Amino acid sequence: MGISTAVVYEEKIYLVDLGHGSHTQLVKAGLQGEGFGGTSFTNVRGIFFTHLHSDHTVEWPAVYATAGMNAIGRSGDPIMVFGPGDRGSLVRVFPPDRKAPELYNPADPTPGIVGMTGYLRNAFAQDFNDRARDSNFASPDTTFNVTDIGLDEVWTVDPDGIPPKLTKPIQVWQDGDVTITATLVDHRPTAPAFGYRFDTPDGSVVVSGDTGVSANLIDLARDCDYLVHEVIDPQFADDLAAALPPEIAGPVKEHLLVSHTTIESVGRDVAEPAGAKNLVLTHMVPTDNPISRWMEAKEGYGGRVIVGEDLMQLNL
Ligand SMILES: [Zn+2]
Ligand SMILES: [Zn+2]
Repeated sequence: MGISTAVVYEEKIYLVDLGHGSHTQLVKAGLQGEGFGGTSFTNVRGIFFTHLHSDHTVEWPAVYATAGMNAIGRSGDPIMVFGPGDRGSLVRVFPPDRKAPELYNPADPTPGIVGMTGYLRNAFAQDFNDRARDSNFASPDTTFNVTDIGLDEVWTVDPDGIPPKLTKPIQVWQDGDVTITATLVDHRPTAPAFGYRFDTPDGSVVVSGDTGVSANLIDLARDCDYLVHEVIDPQFADDLAAALPPEIAGPVKEHLLVSHTTIESVGRDVAEPAGAKNLVLTHMVPTDNPISRWMEAKEGYGGRVIVGEDLMQLNL
């Protein structure tokens, strides 16, 4: 299924990204609330989007629109939702000599998570109005509190999208005894892109989002218990390039390898310098490699490598 990770501490669930099918997977993972009125979102405290690529967000419309049904039995607090704000600049055209393509939604071409959610609110207006008038259904605005992660004084995103080195993590949310911080990872030119860290009294979990080898992420993941990191097999980039016309094969291959992290790098160049105790591979490209190939991430890394699978659960 699509990209999504749940960090669970006591009765609190924190979701990182909502790829395709993640709402269903949340239930299959046994994380729905118990008893009458317990639903899939009863115990979800927060949703954290790493970046706005659709493979990480496409379930958000479903979750947002059905919240009135799925959040029954929650306590009074809304579900906190964090993600990138409006990029504020368009990505550069690639290759640079190509004519710029026509813009989607030219009046607002780079909305962040708040902007995107505003469009969803309007898109589902008929359903929301029906339910509000007929059944006094709760508004999604009372179920979710959506926030763009501010980058004031940190970074003005430019067309290249190469993030600066941060001297300290971004404070996202303190939820009781759980601290959530973030950093800017390097998914150039897509930006901003975040990695998140969850510190709980039981231990720490870091989720990379999509990124090339990122010095900021290494800092964020320092001495963590679990580093959940994306990975690509460079052979896939070679195979894809071989199938493309020569004028775009080179750029596409370079692109894939710069904005993602290879099997050879993820252990040696990320988990090892971070001192992460466990490296969990996720978002593996391609999907059909043998496990033995992914396990080559052990080369140069002293910790434990775990090849992620759908619905895998790991304990702190
Ligand atoms: Zn991405
Ligand atoms: Zn992705």
